[in-house]
Amino acid sequence: MKRLLLFAVVILAAMQVSAQLQVLKNGKPRASIAIVEENEVNRDAALLLNKFVERMSGVRLPISLSKDKKNLILIGGTTDEVGEDGFVIDCHDGRLYIKSGGGKGALYGVATLLENELGVRYYAAGEWTVEQRTDITIAGQHHAETPSFRYRQTQSYGTEDPDYVAFYRLKEPKEIFAANMWVHTFNQILPAAVYGKTHPEYYSFFNGVRHPGAHSQWCLTNPEVFELVAAKIDSIFKANPGMKLISVSQNDGNGTQCACPECKAVDEYEGSPSGNLVRFLNKLAQRFPDKEFSTLAYLYSMQPPKHTKPLPNVNIMLCSIDSKREVPLTENASGRDFVRALTGWGRISDNIFVWDYGINFDNLVTPFPNFHVLQPNMKLFKENHATMLFEQVAGFRGVDFSELRAYMLSKLMWNVEADTDSLMHTFLDGYYGKAAPYLYRYLKMREGALLGSGKDLWIYDSPVSHKEGMLRPYLLAQYDELFDQAEAAVAGDETLLKRVHAARLQQQYSKLEIERTSTEGDREERIREVELFRQRGNEAGIKSLTERKNSVDDYCDLYLERFLPGISNNLALGAQVNYKNLPEYRFVPISATALTDGLFGGATYGESWVGWVGEDAELVVDLGDEQQFTTVRTDCLHNLGAWIFLPKSVSYAISSDNVNFTDIGTFNFEEDRDMSPKYRWATVTLPQAVSARYVKVNLKTIGACPDWHFGVGYDGYFFIDEIQVK
Ligand SMILES: [Zn+2]
Repeated sequence: MKRLLLFAVVILAAMQVSAQLQVLKNGKPRASIAIVEENEVNRDAALLLNKFVERMSGVRLPISLSKDKKNLILIGGTTDEVGEDGFVIDCHDGRLYIKSGGGKGALYGVATLLENELGVRYYAAGEWTVEQRTDITIAGQHHAETPSFRYRQTQSYGTEDPDYVAFYRLKEPKEIFAANMWVHTFNQILPAAVYGKTHPEYYSFFNGVRHPGAHSQWCLTNPEVFELVAAKIDSIFKANPGMKLISVSQNDGNGTQCACPECKAVDEYEGSPSGNLVRFLNKLAQRFPDKEFSTLAYLYSMQPPKHTKPLPNVNIMLCSIDSKREVPLTENASGRDFVRALTGWGRISDNIFVWDYGINFDNLVTPFPNFHVLQPNMKLFKENHATMLFEQVAGFRGVDFSELRAYMLSKLMWNVEADTDSLMHTFLDGYYGKAAPYLYRYLKMREGALLGSGKDLWIYDSPVSHKEGMLRPYLLAQYDELFDQAEAAVAGDETLLKRVHAARLQQQYSKLEIERTSTEGDREERIREVELFRQRGNEAGIKSLTERKNSVDDYCDLYLERFLPGISNNLALGAQVNYKNLPEYRFVPISATALTDGLFGGATYGESWVGWVGEDAELVVDLGDEQQFTTVRTDCLHNLGAWIFLPKSVSYAISSDNVNFTDIGTFNFEEDRDMSPKYRWATVTLPQAVSARYVKVNLKTIGACPDWHFGVGYDGYFFIDEIQVK
């Protein structure tokens, strides 16, 4: 019995020896590479393999034109064993086959071989590690992988580096969407600037009129619109041979769908404005049966229609934009709203593209502890027939753990069953070295603090919204201690120290943002903090602090000008404000003090600002006593992304008895179409000082959002925070 067992083990070992492939021995190549069929993916795969073999050994493998020899690495050839982008790594009888399930399978097979078998680690753009070696042997094996999602996109850090993209198995819309038309394409297909004047009937009817515009929609029941669109689609596909997919999707604007009698009847019957969209897309899908059409289920069209089912070649792009992120989507109310839409679409379609968010658009460099929700959410998407996934994150270093985020996302999009905690450890250990345990503790501590605080995690949060939660002073101090320890652990290594500095930026930014909500504090200390943030932010190469352009220098300059504590010559500081008409209800709680408390709001309107929608405003500032002054000014917010426009004009009048007022001037704002958030003073300066106790401020609204804005036809907001009298 014993002898038999020994015999079996020997046979097995012999089989393994014959199964394995010796690639390199004593620094000399023993195997060559052969490309099974010539194409770009296979060539890229062969180049990637040879590039890394050379990096670890200093030699390149020869390319063989014959595919019949032994000791070959055969790249390419397809297999049914795996799905699109999947691969099989098969090593037996002195040959290594890397076969593809279509798409970029061969390239991903090579990247996997390098990572799993040869110890290559790719952490960030241009940042990889290899082990130096003179011998390489690939063990006998048969290893197959199919991705959990056929399309994986992040816009994450590092997409400018093709090798990084191969290791992270990411795709870009332009690779699969004809003419890169992948979202919000209505106005590209039928530009309102071209057809709007002559054919207003092609566009949405609501609030009693047609709204041709870049942010309104089409009248989808108009047969002329369909024929025009079909002709346009035909020409786009003809100009892009080989492409199969295009997006025909609503413009970015909410509640701007057509409500003409025909469109309204369909939407009512279908129980959702998606009804008209799916019917329109189905007609296109029938007209072009060998093509695929993608459309958005977004904002007003998020819920599926009750009766019409999308055809198989209609792809539904579903966006979770309104959902909160502190817990998985199934666990909070906003998430469940999305889940209802997802399961609804999942019942009528097997062709769903989920657009999910892991980003804070208003404050890119701020803590966004959502690592714990990634896996449950992705599993949910997959269970409900999502085959394509876009995890939108901010794409540059210095954003909250952007390199780790990209790594975790790409690994999970490839395999939703991966072990997330071990992924996190692998990355932190490899990328941050001895600093890893402190950063891991930091990440876990803030995650626990977020959950314990009961606060939402929103994609438009400000750090200020968490100042009593995960960013309360006691915790900020603990985080600082952990970052100090992390920095100390890698103090001797410039590269690692830089990485820790970049990871710490979001903590520095949060502190600065929270500190500006208090008039207390040491002015000199605050200036030092701002300058350190400026230096480190620029070192990390942060391009912008918000979705709109806002450089580190612009932010720091404005901070020094606007938010430093101490020094004020404002006669209105602490003055009482009497409103003729109160601001919108959400801002009433802070309205008694917000305009004269000496605190300036940031780009997020949720704190320090008070706003009105669709109406003028009037208020009187009571200085308490008769005062002498020459200047009155009001700080106004411009943030078009949030429908916040500057007022049309701000007028001032003064009085000593609060009955008889004398006009002292009006400030008119010019229209500003720039999307960057900014603050503007409405200032009136008099040639000589006047005396008064009461200052009346009159603010005129611009009314409805103009037709170039995505709120077209709906009332716009204006916001003010400080009124100053000097
Ligand atoms: Zn209509």
